[in-house]
Amino acid sequence: MGLVVAENVVKTYCMGDVEVNAIKGVSFEIEPASFVSFVGPSGSGKSTLLNMIGCLDHPSSGKLTVAGTDISSLNRQSSASFRGDNIGFIFQDFNLIPVLTIEENVEYPLLMVQDWPVSKRKARVRELLEAVGITEQANKYPHQLSGGQKQRVAIARALVTHAKLILADEPTANLDHDTAYRIIELMKKMRDEYGSTFIFSTHDPKIMDAAEIIYTLEDGKLNQQQGGDSHE
Ligand code: ADP
Ligand code: MG
Repeated sequence: MGLVVAENVVKTYCMGDVEVNAIKGVSFEIEPASFVSFVGPSGSGKSTLLNMIGCLDHPSSGKLTVAGTDISSLNRQSSASFRGDNIGFIFQDFNLIPVLTIEENVEYPLLMVQDWPVSKRKARVRELLEAVGITEQANKYPHQLSGGQKQRVAIARALVTHAKLILADEPTANLDHDTAYRIIELMKKMRDEYGSTFIFSTHDPKIMDAAEIIYTLEDGKLNQQQGGDSHE
């Protein structure tokens, strides 16, 4: 069974008397350890879809299953603990905590969700810092790092809890093209190493080619096409 299964998922926002049909009945299935991109112009529904998969928002109708759990109907508290156990997030503007060091930023999710002894926690953080190549920045603060380095930290933070699913909403939007491409390649390497599924969104055609499976979103509807890498 797929790690993410969407069956006729609809999302309608109500703004006063006006209804916005952000997602208009989409169905798809994403296998474990895949590397997937949702691509589409601004307003096509990428964030809406990723937020629903990430259990930050609920579908208006349809069924959405993640890691075997029907998340369409989880309440607020169950959603939060489901996210903590299963999902890591990477954001466009990195969202690192400015008063914590790089090492502490990566450690933070472990303090929130898992009752690990200090030594195990530290070892896990060191492993992730090394995996993404920022060991030398461990004691620095976010403002001392470049954008690309900050996104490496965010990738380490997303993976530190062994999340099955990593969601990245336009993770490269604030990076120059070369750095953006390296960040996507790093995400793919992390997928190979840790077996986590990565789903990222972008409106950049050059970046989307690095995905193995590409879904194109247009005005809330979905088309699937194969990515550049898997069939070269
Ligand atoms: P994208 O991430 O591809 O730019 P979004 O998912 O943010 O697209 O938005 C899809 C559509 O839903 C847009 O028309 C947007 O204006 C609308 N929308 C998104 N979030 C909300 C909200 N909280 N309330 C009302 N409309 C929204
Ligand atoms: Mg968006």
